[in-house]
Amino acid sequence: MITMSTDDHLSLPSSLRLSRYLSLAFVLFVPLLLFGCPSGTSNKPVDERSASPSASNPSSKGASDFDGDRAFEQVRKQVEFGPRPAGSAELEKLRAYMIDQLKSYGLQVTTDEFRATTPIGQRKMVNVTAELPGESNDVIIISSHYDTKYFKDIKFVGANDGGASTGALLELARVRAANKTKPRLTYWFVFFDGEEAFCFDWDQCHNPNPADPKNPLPDHTYGSRRYVAQLIEKHELPRVRAMILFDMMGFKNLRLGRDDLSTRWLQDIVWQTAKQIGHGGQFIDAPEGVGDDDHAPFLRAGVDALDIIQLSTYGSNDSEYWHTKEDTLDKVSAKSLKIVGDTLLASLPKIEARLANGR
Ligand SMILES: [Zn+2]
Repeated sequence: MITMSTDDHLSLPSSLRLSRYLSLAFVLFVPLLLFGCPSGTSNKPVDERSASPSASNPSSKGASDFDGDRAFEQVRKQVEFGPRPAGSAELEKLRAYMIDQLKSYGLQVTTDEFRATTPIGQRKMVNVTAELPGESNDVIIISSHYDTKYFKDIKFVGANDGGASTGALLELARVRAANKTKPRLTYWFVFFDGEEAFCFDWDQCHNPNPADPKNPLPDHTYGSRRYVAQLIEKHELPRVRAMILFDMMGFKNLRLGRDDLSTRWLQDIVWQTAKQIGHGGQFIDAPEGVGDDDHAPFLRAGVDALDIIQLSTYGSNDSEYWHTKEDTLDKVSAKSLKIVGDTLLASLPKIEARLANGR
């Protein structure tokens, strides 16, 4: 069941944040104007655009090639497909688009199609994995669900819930694949289908479990449960050393608390890195209790896993936009996507080092 923690910490007022970004931009930009561009014209290659300070590139400290505007366009694209519940034609279109994008980054894409029994009947679902080979066969998974919640009565486009995390993951995959240095560990960028419950509430409905009729199966996390089961069947689970999940992390008032199910050392590295690169106002030390998500099947199977999620404060007061028709593109910002992208990219070498030392 999803339980939500509440607390009353406030992040910095946006005016304060803005002035900080502006002063940073000033410090960085003025020397460039004075010394960097004697001809007075800019003919930087397109690839270097993301290195310049801009609305979506607020901080130079820890800024990576992750392009917030590009990630945001990936969110817009998804929203334009319309509602994308598991098994829908719209999700099929998004999937084809994602696979195309991932291949264009030079990644090897595999799909796993399966039929899931749901409270509204059999549904086709497809998990998508893009692989970036590393020095080691050991794997770090970075993931998101790409389906949106099914509603009979409302037009739910899931800009933040499904859209933001999928957009950020596409951009992260692009940036990591463009890096000429082979990563220490192999990366799997995983897009789960069927995270959302078909019934209104997370634990409202269950599905039959032929293998164990007394323990019916849940009506959610269809893709991630299938993913772990497949890893076990193929004896590949021991390769997976860490699993990182993005979910609802693009809200313009970004305030990510610490999910209480997540593995502490992974969370500590990411939260400490965020502080070091100036994002302590967004990665905060308040508890966030989501109860269950796509990381849970991995945790149950013994894989260290981290959920980066803003559930309890997705709204002006509480989670008022969550699973409503208000979860629209105007709630998401390129800046928030970049903050999470930069923070994770700066954290990965530390996670790799910790995993290398631990085996
Ligand atoms: Zn959701």
